[in-house]
Amino acid sequence: MTTIGVLGLQGAFREHVRSVEATGAKALVVKKKEQLEDIDGLIIPGGESTTMRRLIDKYDFLEPIRQFGKQGKPLFGTCAGLILLASEIDGSYDVHLGLMDIKVRRNAFGRQRESFEADLDIKGIADGFNAVFIRAPYIEGVGEDTEVLATYDGHIVAAQQDHYLACSFHPELTDDHRLTSHFVEMVDQSKKSLAF
Ligand code: GLN
Repeated sequence: MTTIGVLGLQGAFREHVRSVEATGAKALVVKKKEQLEDIDGLIIPGGESTTMRRLIDKYDFLEPIRQFGKQGKPLFGTCAGLILLASEIDGSYDVHLGLMDIKVRRNAFGRQRESFEADLDIKGIADGFNAVFIRAPYIEGVGEDTEVLATYDGHIVAAQQDHYLACSFHPELTDDHRLTSHFVEMVDQSKKSLAF
């Protein structure tokens, strides 16, 4: 059976577990790098990217997660997780995992709009998706191999590059599990192709 790991160092990981389980897949909270061997895909949740990075370093996760991605295993970054996946962060020399060819801006929707909800059309995945944004980043630019999946107010809020998926919002906080299901399908596909 396909097992989806959820990085459980900080942030909204329990909600992701609930969402993965709602799709019928198995979820595992990943707290030690050795557990990466027990999973087929990894979700990096929302929270606070700088805090999560500190914990990633403390538990020696940075290189093991990079290798996980480089082996072709799918990663899904939501909100702070998107920031961790990005190859460039506006206004900062910091890059965390640097796996996905996107440039992000943190806290990009401004103070007045700390959190809000919006109905999004996510290309090929969901129409009228109820997206919850909390101190959300957006994607300022993508590389040529990265597909834009959704925009809000003219800004990119979801994208996919091969086996990497990222969104600015929190898809785990509602009962709409279509984006999580899409990730589970990506993981199923990659599991099949990596088996050959
Ligand atoms: N603003 C947070 C950060 O920069 C992300 C917010 C979230 O994950 N909800 O890490």
